[in-house]
Amino acid sequence: MTYDVAIIGAGSAGMFAALELADTDLRVVILESGLPPKERTSITSGVGGGGTFSDGKLNLSSKIGGNPQAIGCSSTELDALIEQVDAEFTRCGAPAQYSGENAHDLAQLKQTASQAGIEFIAGRQRHIGTVTIRGVIDNLYHDLLDRGIEFRLSTKVGAIAAEDSGFRLDTSGGSVHARSVIAAPGRVGAYWLREQTRKLGVGPAFGPLDIGVRVEFPAELYESIERVMYDAKLRVLTSTYDDMVRTFCTNPRGFVVREDHEDFVLVNGHAENKRKSDNTNFALLVHMELTDPVEDTTQYGRAVAQLASTIGGGHPILQRLKDLQQGRRSTIDRIRRLPIHPTLEQVTPGDISMALPQRIVLNLLEAIERLDRVIPGLAADSTLIYAPEIKFYDTRYDVQAGMETKLPGFYVAGDASGHSRGIVFSAVTGIYAARHIEAKAS
Ligand SMILES: Cc1cc2nc3c(=O)[nH]c(=O)nc-3n(C[C@H](O)[C@H](O)[C@H](O)COP(=O)(O)OP(=O)(O)OC[C@H]3O[C@@H](n4cnc5c(N)ncnc54)[C@H](O)[C@@H]3O)c2cc1C
Repeated sequence: MTYDVAIIGAGSAGMFAALELADTDLRVVILESGLPPKERTSITSGVGGGGTFSDGKLNLSSKIGGNPQAIGCSSTELDALIEQVDAEFTRCGAPAQYSGENAHDLAQLKQTASQAGIEFIAGRQRHIGTVTIRGVIDNLYHDLLDRGIEFRLSTKVGAIAAEDSGFRLDTSGGSVHARSVIAAPGRVGAYWLREQTRKLGVGPAFGPLDIGVRVEFPAELYESIERVMYDAKLRVLTSTYDDMVRTFCTNPRGFVVREDHEDFVLVNGHAENKRKSDNTNFALLVHMELTDPVEDTTQYGRAVAQLASTIGGGHPILQRLKDLQQGRRSTIDRIRRLPIHPTLEQVTPGDISMALPQRIVLNLLEAIERLDRVIPGLAADSTLIYAPEIKFYDTRYDVQAGMETKLPGFYVAGDASGHSRGIVFSAVTGIYAARHIEAKAS
């Protein structure tokens, strides 16, 4: 039996693509290597993808999370798609509270930021929270099942081959044939997809990389900003290198967490619905693009991550800001004496400048000094810095309208496509691909 559409990955891109196709005559299957939302233990794999174990910060702005021009989506079209994604989350149980809606407060924050030479990207946000998001994803999953979408779980796709009438996908549960494929395996499946698409002749170019640290500080310092926009997006162009450094994934009263990879460890952060800490954290990331002749951002990012893991003895490195500024390592003793307590304990107090390239460290230090004018107290001696935090957006596909690659019928969507960086924009690319398939079929 041949399906009309096979979707690889049940993350937000895959699920929203399926939702779009659910009420059509097309026969759709989702192939997902992980488990249903309530049985999952993996942070990255399973129904809901990376979103299920996140704290569900939904960025509802066309300026955050992707580049609409690169996928040929008009801003009117994009605004409507974002509204659609938000409405589905509400229908599935997301709390109806937003931040970033008060124009007066946003304008004031923008002015304060501008005076410090910082760009503030205002946008509406919804914060679902770690516990609630799992229930929301579970509702979405059952809705799709009720509407006839077939899920094959614990089914990892291996080789993909082009056939006369579509594609053959070899999976751990046998071969699946489909006329069209939407490949949405997320960051976790991006390198697997790169291997497959190279064989199909539509492999990606190297995309950019964001390298930096997680900054943790007393929650009171961020409270006035949190009231304006929960996860305020602030961008700094540094004086020395003119590089772009941005804040990302702010977690008021949240926790720093470790992100284990096969041969290195990174840091991340989240905020929970019920359990609150005394600290706020955000990622501070330097945007890097490598140009000819060295374009391999994957190799570069991995090398940095591995070096940092070596210096940290297999744990993230923790350093107080003053030590980083003065070029000396932090010790357990110095960390213990601080007025702020780290929310991540499995760390190695050390020297981040031994692990990250000098250009990145200098960019980060300059950015913190500048951000202190918007978040007074951020540049205090005791501010905690965890390293490394790296966002690999390093596979970027050339796509035509509707996320279709040069190979007719083969679509890419979500973070693995290189055109999204978050739950909402991934969903948008999934819907966009699904609509294109639907239009071609009718
Ligand atoms: C800890 C954490 C916190 C985050 N917090 C936020 C947040 O607050 N807000 C936000 O917007 N974003 C957040 N993100 C990012 C967000 O989760 C991702 O941007 C989003 O989930 C990407 O969606 P996607 O559909 O492209 O891929 P994913 O959600 O990664 O889903 C891909 C799915 O494909 C499956 N898969 C991969 N390869 C195969 C294969 N070969 N065969 C079958 N299945 C396969 C995987 O198992 C996975 O379930 C967070 C991410 C993490 C890790």
